[in-house]
Amino acid sequence: MPPVLTAAWIYRVRKRILAGVLGCTLVTVLLTGFLLRDRLLRDAVSKSEELSSALVSSLSGLMLARDPERIQTTVEQLTAGRDSILKALILDREGRVVYSSDPSERGRKIDTHTEASCRVCHLNSVLPKEHAVITVSEGEPVQRVVTVIANQAACHACHPAENPVNGKLIVDRSLKKTNALIATVEAIIAACGLGSLIVLLGLVRGGVNKYVGTIAHQTAELASLYTLVERLSKTIDVAQLNHIVIDILQDVFSAEEVHLISMKDAHNFRYRLWTRSRAGIERKKLEADDPLYPVVQLWLDGRILEVQFTEDRQMVRMPIVREKTLLALAVVRKSVGTFQADDLRLVIAMAGHIASAFENARLYRLAITDELTGAYTRRHLNYCLEEKLTAYDRKAEPFALLFLDVDNFKSVNDQFGHATGDAVLRSMVHNVSNVVRDLDQVFRYGGEEFAILLPGVTVKTAREVAERIREQAQRGEMEDVPSGLRVTVSIGLAHCPDHAQTANELLFLADKALYEAKRAGRNRVATP
Ligand code: GH3
Ligand code: MG
Ligand code: MG
Repeated sequence: MPPVLTAAWIYRVRKRILAGVLGCTLVTVLLTGFLLRDRLLRDAVSKSEELSSALVSSLSGLMLARDPERIQTTVEQLTAGRDSILKALILDREGRVVYSSDPSERGRKIDTHTEASCRVCHLNSVLPKEHAVITVSEGEPVQRVVTVIANQAACHACHPAENPVNGKLIVDRSLKKTNALIATVEAIIAACGLGSLIVLLGLVRGGVNKYVGTIAHQTAELASLYTLVERLSKTIDVAQLNHIVIDILQDVFSAEEVHLISMKDAHNFRYRLWTRSRAGIERKKLEADDPLYPVVQLWLDGRILEVQFTEDRQMVRMPIVREKTLLALAVVRKSVGTFQADDLRLVIAMAGHIASAFENARLYRLAITDELTGAYTRRHLNYCLEEKLTAYDRKAEPFALLFLDVDNFKSVNDQFGHATGDAVLRSMVHNVSNVVRDLDQVFRYGGEEFAILLPGVTVKTAREVAERIREQAQRGEMEDVPSGLRVTVSIGLAHCPDHAQTANELLFLADKALYEAKRAGRNRVATP
């Protein structure tokens, strides 16, 4: 799953987790409340039933003693001074009130279909199995227990033996207290539920947020690596790669400065420095008093083979290493904040990708480089020439092609030997490279003949550059060459678009101009 989708999924799941916790808490509160209420009511019912049966047995004694006044007093006393029992009455078989806690009721005939407290059960003739029901009388919750007064042998003196029932004892109990208790308990449960919900939410939020934070960090890391790989894959050219690597390091770490030391060969390296203050890339020679000097020495001695943060954690040293071959060393200083432990993985991964890119560029460079001189090959000239022509077609960017031939080189070989001749050719490329810009390219066209591409120049500038190259050769600063040896060069120049706009024509015209320079006496620059 792509990282962005993963993060979104986590956000969605977070909502679900919270909703789940909320739902569970609500269900728990409701279920507990419901069970508790049921339990309390059942308790109240059994208490009422116990009370009623106790009452029936004590009243039956009074009935057998035929003491109606004491029965009435007992029924009245049942409610006197008690909140819990609202009403007690005894009905005869016809539903007439015989005894009542409210004496004014005595003799009244109760119609079960019109009396509100009776209708609860008698309506539609649905009588409860237990002799207890809950009803509401004048807004107050009431529990009514009805106990049958059975006709026993002892009663036959007053009641006919065939009657199964002599009457009913009705006791109404108030459920006010029970309900108040239930409400209190429910409130406590709800408060506990809400409290634990808040705590749970905090925990879940904290946990999920931490996870989301990690995902976000990893997403940013992956995005940085994705950008890195994408940008690195844009070129295979070492010079461009140096610039891209510096740009990336500067972007990803919001760097104050980026130093990039890249290996040219086993003995030479190039040092490039980017600083925020100058906002540009500068090619530098590394002097002994440069603070980076000892670091580079350590690196060259093979003592920086892994990513290192400096003690203040403001700098990171990233060795770009491929199978123990030093390819480059990047040193990055942050402008804000410090490198964290979390950054290490990203820096290591980045160093790996950069190493691959440098290695690919190195292999490509080998393929397009002339072994003796280090200049590009003639085949690569054809490719680059087409590239420059495309750039001219698209952006009207002009360029110049120089053809350079060492004058009387045969005599150098003859006089000083082939090895010296080779050294002259090497120095020639080295000197020319120092005179031209980074983006100019030097090619060995064949033997002692070289081509140079100068992008973005006018004929006038190209001529000036060619003159500088010629003068530099004439000065004769060469390595591994006898001190008295001097060589000169002749240069032919062709410009696009001023002289021609196709590869063949430009090659032909530059060669022709070179021939003209030779013909005119050598050691000179000629244009078509
Ligand atoms: P001109 O001024 O007309 O260019 O004269 P020239 O002697 O430079 O030209 P010519 O084409 O007669 O000789 C080129 C010589 O360059 C001949 C060849 O032996 C030599 N040469 C070509 N490739 C190499 C090389 O790789 N190493 C060495 N040492 N010599 C080379
Ligand atoms: Mg020659
Ligand atoms: Mg030649």
